[in-house]
Amino acid sequence: MTELGHFIGGKSVVGGNGRFSDVFNPATGEVSARVALATAAEVDAAVQSAKRAFPGWSRTTPLSRARVMFKYKALLEANRDKLARMIGAEHGKVLGDAVGEVTRGIEVVEFVCGIPHLLKGDFTENVGTNVDCYSLRQPLGVCAGITPFNFPAMVPMWMFPVAIACGNTFVLKPSERDPSTPLLLAQLLLEAGAPEGVLNVVNGDKEAVDTILSHPDIEAVSFVGSTPIAEYVYRTGTAAAKRVQALGGAKNHMVVLPDADMDQATDALMGAAYGSAGERCMAISVAVAVGAAGDRLMAKLAPRVRALKVGPYTDADAEMGPLVTRQAYDRVKGYIDLGVKEGAKLAVDGRGLKLQGYEKGFFIGGCLFDEVRPGMRIYKEEIFGPVLSVVRTPDYEQALDLVNAHEFGNGTAIFTRDGDAARDFASRAKIGMVGVNVPIPVPLAFHSFGGWKRSLFGDHHIHGAEGVRFYTRLKTVTARWPKGIRAGAEYVMPTMQ
Ligand code: NAD
Repeated sequence: MTELGHFIGGKSVVGGNGRFSDVFNPATGEVSARVALATAAEVDAAVQSAKRAFPGWSRTTPLSRARVMFKYKALLEANRDKLARMIGAEHGKVLGDAVGEVTRGIEVVEFVCGIPHLLKGDFTENVGTNVDCYSLRQPLGVCAGITPFNFPAMVPMWMFPVAIACGNTFVLKPSERDPSTPLLLAQLLLEAGAPEGVLNVVNGDKEAVDTILSHPDIEAVSFVGSTPIAEYVYRTGTAAAKRVQALGGAKNHMVVLPDADMDQATDALMGAAYGSAGERCMAISVAVAVGAAGDRLMAKLAPRVRALKVGPYTDADAEMGPLVTRQAYDRVKGYIDLGVKEGAKLAVDGRGLKLQGYEKGFFIGGCLFDEVRPGMRIYKEEIFGPVLSVVRTPDYEQALDLVNAHEFGNGTAIFTRDGDAARDFASRAKIGMVGVNVPIPVPLAFHSFGGWKRSLFGDHHIHGAEGVRFYTRLKTVTARWPKGIRAGAEYVMPTMQ
């Protein structure tokens, strides 16, 4: 049995406390490894290692940090397939999808290769006579990241490359469901030239998270995961006077207007609802079909959902893999049972799917509900599985009201040929990321990612310029170099001339 521990001070560390969690191959349902769950003392060892590394690392020049990131990018590219296979083996997503995730992570590293430019401050000559003023952004110290199972490469890379390029050191607490990938990411950063202790990984559960949230030597916490935990992390971390950004769950709506190209809309919905078995925070889980779009969309969608190719990540033809755990499978199946009880019409039922040779895997087929209504729990709650709910509205305004009334506000999209409607939607949707004929509008690394409402707690979105702001403190310096002229003591509020 493979045992996975931590990565502290540039070394692999075996978890010593005797608490472990099983890691599964979701395709076979078999336990593939067990991962140590860190004690408070093990988390503290990682924080102390990051704290020791901080003075030296923060004093390196932005240019030399950028050069480490250049090397890291090359190493990640060389290991892209290895990382993708690791993700497939523990998460279950198909290889092409896993390669895409790694690539989106590498793009953040690529972005921070420009860190000397990103850290440039402002300068004003002569804010007063012979007085200059300049601002700079300085690193915070030890930062921590707590990440979900669904993107074991990309989501950690939304955080630590930006934090580290800014001069911080980092403790990552990844998901205990798929821990191998983050451990390799840390090993590669060491190989790229980051000193020991700059990036540490502690595997663990609530105990590790609580230790991070109350640790006096951690300045900032980035969290990505479900909304109840995001809210808990935000409240607990900010109560301990930490800077916190906590990204939560989602229920992303795609509005389809009757003038949309229905084939395009169907293709978009298939990828966005069923890609990665719906285990994406930017997955589309609700299609809002306006007026005549409803019947036309359902007629095209249902056969496509029935024909979805489900298989293990090793199957090059598979479009969608299994769910991550038995627990996730039971939860998703429970929601489908519930939807039927609530009176929604189950147009495609994936519950009975069995794959020869993978009978113990956590596979569920694509499911499609029609006539879903806003009061139903399957509409209100995040299912996080391959389940698409179609809600019908008579007009655009009611579709927009649905988008805006929902408690989550991560992503949304509109499909239409009407530029005026699209522009109105982009302006009035109370949602962090909006797509116009783009179903999953995930911003590239040089923009920033984040939702509104209960999809994000905190003030900053993640990566891009927002990430650089989150991981740095602003300092403004006002400087005068008087040559022998004494102004004397000033007892009034100084003003400049
Ligand atoms: P999760 O909330 O169960 O776990 C996230 C992290 O929190 C993990 O590291 C986990 O170990 C830790 N954790 C779990 N329970 C905890 C507890 N009681 N106290 C303290 N820490 C705890 O989320 P998940 O199931 O790993 O991931 C899926 C969720 O993440 C979905 O809700 C999805 O929408 C969300 N997500 C959001 C985004 C986004 O950008 N908004 C991106 C990816 C995933």
